[in-house]
Order: sequence, then C-alpha cells, then structure tokens
Amino acid sequence: MKYLIWLLVILVAIWAFKRSRRPAKPAEEKTPPNNASPSNMVACTHCGLHLPQEEAVTGTQGLYCSTEHRAAAQDRNPV
Ligand SMILES: [Zn+2]
Repeated sequence: MKYLIWLLVILVAIWAFKRSRRPAKPAEEKTPPNNASPSNMVACTHCGLHLPQEEAVTGTQGLYCSTEHRAAAQDRNPV
C-alpha cells in the first residue's frame, strides 16, 4: 500500500511537470474566426443606399439596390 501511494505521488509530480512545461495556447485560437472576407459594399446609383455587392442589381450605368431603382434611373440590365 505504501508503494502505491508513492507511485501515485510520482505520477502526479510527472503530470504537473508536463503540464507546467506545455506552453499555454494563445487566446486567439479559442476565439471563433471572424468573417475573413467582409463583403464589398457598393452604393446604389439612384438613391445612394449602401448594400453588399452580391445583392446589388447591375445596370449599364452602375449598380442599384433594387430593380425598381434601376428602372427609375432609366437604366436596363446589360445582360
Ligand atoms: Zn436605390
């Protein structure tokens, strides 16, 4: 029984030694990854509203927030 207690003490000492030697992980690894590529913002040619480029409506004279504004600007779809 006495040896078992010593074995336990030695194992705990080894565990504590390994734990203290291991460098702490940087805090930034724990944080969730930010949106690496924020969408490019564009302004509506008609009203000036800012919106993500992928949501913009394309016209021959520029980008619009909606098809209504593209029509209001007397523009049409270039495609
Ligand atoms: Zn608009």
